[in-house]
Amino acid sequence: MPPHDTLIRKMRIGLLFWLSAIAVAQPAADLLKDPAVHAALEAVRRDEPRTLDQEMRVCAIPAPPFKEAERGRELKRLFDELGLRDTRIDRAGNVIGVRPGQAAHPNLVFAAHLDTVFPEGTGVKPSREGDLLKGPGIGDDCRGLAVMLETIRALDQARVRTPGTITFVADVGEEGLGDLRGMKELFPASLKGQIDKFVSVDGTGLGITTVGVGSLRYRVTFKGPGGHSFGNFGMANPIQAMGRAIAKIDAFEVPRQPKTTFNVGRVGGGTSVNAIPYEGWMEVDMRSSDPAALKALDAKFHAALRQAVEEENQRWENRGAVAVTAEQVGVRPAGQTAQASPIVQTALAVSKALDLESALGEGSTDSNVPMNLGIPAITIGGGGIGTGAHSLNETFDARDSWRGTQRALLLAIALAR
Ligand SMILES: [Zn+2]
Repeated sequence: MPPHDTLIRKMRIGLLFWLSAIAVAQPAADLLKDPAVHAALEAVRRDEPRTLDQEMRVCAIPAPPFKEAERGRELKRLFDELGLRDTRIDRAGNVIGVRPGQAAHPNLVFAAHLDTVFPEGTGVKPSREGDLLKGPGIGDDCRGLAVMLETIRALDQARVRTPGTITFVADVGEEGLGDLRGMKELFPASLKGQIDKFVSVDGTGLGITTVGVGSLRYRVTFKGPGGHSFGNFGMANPIQAMGRAIAKIDAFEVPRQPKTTFNVGRVGGGTSVNAIPYEGWMEVDMRSSDPAALKALDAKFHAALRQAVEEENQRWENRGAVAVTAEQVGVRPAGQTAQASPIVQTALAVSKALDLESALGEGSTDSNVPMNLGIPAITIGGGGIGTGAHSLNETFDARDSWRGTQRALLLAIALAR
């Protein structure tokens, strides 16, 4: 494209950005003048102590990966108690409840995740010293669950009416091994074709995640007949084939922007120093926020495995030929929501209307799935200050945490239209 056209295009994009920014900034500020909205915001500020109690109660129920059912049942009970309609638990274990608006659409899904990274048997009962709440999962994501519950309660208490509908979801499988399985059920199955916008409240602080870093994970196994290191010398060697593959992976060139990465994280195999191994294995992780870059990296990775095995077999003239299989053990789709998009601009405008600073960032959260599908999605922090997420020493500092609850509430109202 000639420079002149580029300039016009840039100006056009700039103008659109500016227009969309005013289009959403004004309504966000205007919402504060609505008496019902004002009352709801006051309620969450006043009731933050109750929100914190709720955060502690939810967190005392264990929710290990793939075992979120008990905490899920409690969320279902609370959804019913708070008057949500059509409450149910889907096949994956997601808890769903609807707060109908004047119309079925737009339908905003407002979510927080049930699962923790902590295995069964971990002592998860939280404790508290003043403003400091302590316990595994207290911020990530008991904070999100408590903020979601308080949002539902405040909307109801202040009788806030929204033009669009809000569907609340306490979802499963957000953390590592869960592989976003809750979202993978919600979007293509449980709420197929019904979700117009998505917000997940995940963890603490006031950040807004607009970039979803995707990842692919593999367990790769190289196999051959194996034999005696001296007696059978002259055979292809699975671990040596794997060494060739690792050297090729190590030489990959990847884009710096968007950040694209690869890592061979674990290796193993073999039975003895004096045996040609019958097996070698490695675990590989690749990440990018750009779906195309991740796909290209994935293709290079598979080619490297094939070439490595071919070279190893050729080197030993196909004596004891080695074969390779790559089992996918994790897929998190990549995507992003443009900064100029109405959902991001609304989130920024809502933060600004409440006098809050919110930085845009990237991460791997439930929003990855809708972002990948092109559905407007962001993940926001639930306020307060968190430390030690994913560790047994996790803490949540609740000073001014009501501001996070307010932001989530106002955002839900602003997007349900
Ligand atoms: Zn989380």
